[in-house]
Amino acid sequence: MPRSTPALLLLSLATILHAQGPLRTTPPPPVSPVPVVASYPETPSGKLLKEVKEHSEVVAKVEHLTDLIGPRLTGSESLRRAQAWAMGELKRLGAENVHEEAYDFGLAWTRGVDSARLLTQNGLRFRVDQVAWTTGTPRPVTGELMLVDARNFDELKAFHGQLKGKILLRTNPNDKRPPLPRRAGGDMAAYQAEVAAMTQWLLDEGALATLQMSGRKNGLGFAAGGPGRDPKRVTIPSAVVPQEPYRMLLRLVARNEPVRLELNLGGAFSAKPVQAFNVIGEIRGTEKPGETVVIGAHLDSWDLGTGATDNATGSAVCLEVLRALQATGLKPKRTLRVILFSGEEQGLLGSRAYVEAHKTEMDAIQAVLIHDMGTGMVRGFDLQNRENCRGLMAQAIAPLNDLGVRELSLRVMNGTDHAPFDRAGVPAFAAIQDAVDYFEGTHHSQMDYPDHLQPDQLIQGAQAIAGTAWELLNLEGRLPHGPVARPAR
Ligand SMILES: [Zn+2]
Repeated sequence: MPRSTPALLLLSLATILHAQGPLRTTPPPPVSPVPVVASYPETPSGKLLKEVKEHSEVVAKVEHLTDLIGPRLTGSESLRRAQAWAMGELKRLGAENVHEEAYDFGLAWTRGVDSARLLTQNGLRFRVDQVAWTTGTPRPVTGELMLVDARNFDELKAFHGQLKGKILLRTNPNDKRPPLPRRAGGDMAAYQAEVAAMTQWLLDEGALATLQMSGRKNGLGFAAGGPGRDPKRVTIPSAVVPQEPYRMLLRLVARNEPVRLELNLGGAFSAKPVQAFNVIGEIRGTEKPGETVVIGAHLDSWDLGTGATDNATGSAVCLEVLRALQATGLKPKRTLRVILFSGEEQGLLGSRAYVEAHKTEMDAIQAVLIHDMGTGMVRGFDLQNRENCRGLMAQAIAPLNDLGVRELSLRVMNGTDHAPFDRAGVPAFAAIQDAVDYFEGTHHSQMDYPDHLQPDQLIQGAQAIAGTAWELLNLEGRLPHGPVARPAR
């Protein structure tokens, strides 16, 4: 049956609207910052980069570590499962000498059910995340909220006799006082001793728990760790509250009416101290097997999300380098060693333990490369003020310049696992990466899921680590070792 003219008109109008309507309201897809490389040279590193680009398994590996294994707190069963999986992957990808190395960790800690509910005013339930390695509440406790914004023990003592049965708000974002003078010399032991004394005093005064405000905006929690890994240290039940509910609590307290809260923090310690482990595997060098290039990342994570960008990404990148070597059949002159650390989130414990256990072998390490800033593309490496490494590092990243890997900054970065090697005189560098959703989003928060991966950037990062490691494995020259002068902080 032929269509009537008005029907055809309507149809074509509908087609136009359909074609234009959704396009007007949908923002254009974000433009990737990763340069498009049309073809790779027929060199060994060109083959390696092409293999990573075309057959990368990094996203699948991140999804395995996060969706199937889950958050990987050091000392936990799930980190042990991740380590068993990683050892299997290393063997499957042709690594030799695959093994674990243990170090003493202290007590393990497991998150339980955390909840908070106002018993007065609006009765809101809101998110709380227990500070890891603090003691839980034996059952839901109820107490009146009180702002206790003491910044040291002297200020805290002014609250003597007022804290019994109270839940303390320990962050004051509206603080107008001039900052305290800086602690001389950054004495960590003295600081920890003062924190321990303050905690004992709070318990003696009868305080029930402490709450602190999350450092992240937009309803995000933030995972942090308390001192209770050491069985001798006392802790008080503590939790982090996202900014919006925390500021509400402060406003309610400021009205000078009682604000009562029911708080349940379900975390628990292991009965005994446990060991933690680093996972290691290597591809033996053909000409200088006694010299090594280490590539590394930390397999452990925090536990509010599943640790996708911190640091399943780096772990997957390291495994991807092995996969690409195996797929291309390339054999390096020096030995490539992959180390998947643990305890990074509790203070670089795994890398410190590795350096301590292998301190006589540090001179045999050509370089250490660490990938630990999420999904963002790699722009280069921080040289840790090792100006004398610039020449050879520039040579090492030259084949990656077209991929956007060009930056060799002298900046000293201490926040991840290259740092203990650096302090032992080894040229050890963290990749400079774009901070895609990282410090404002996924880092240590409940947002850390694979949804925030940018596959093209992560694959570029795997190319950057593979390509740089390959050059360092085969360069004639050796990067200069030794301590370097550091600018005063
Ligand atoms: Zn990390």
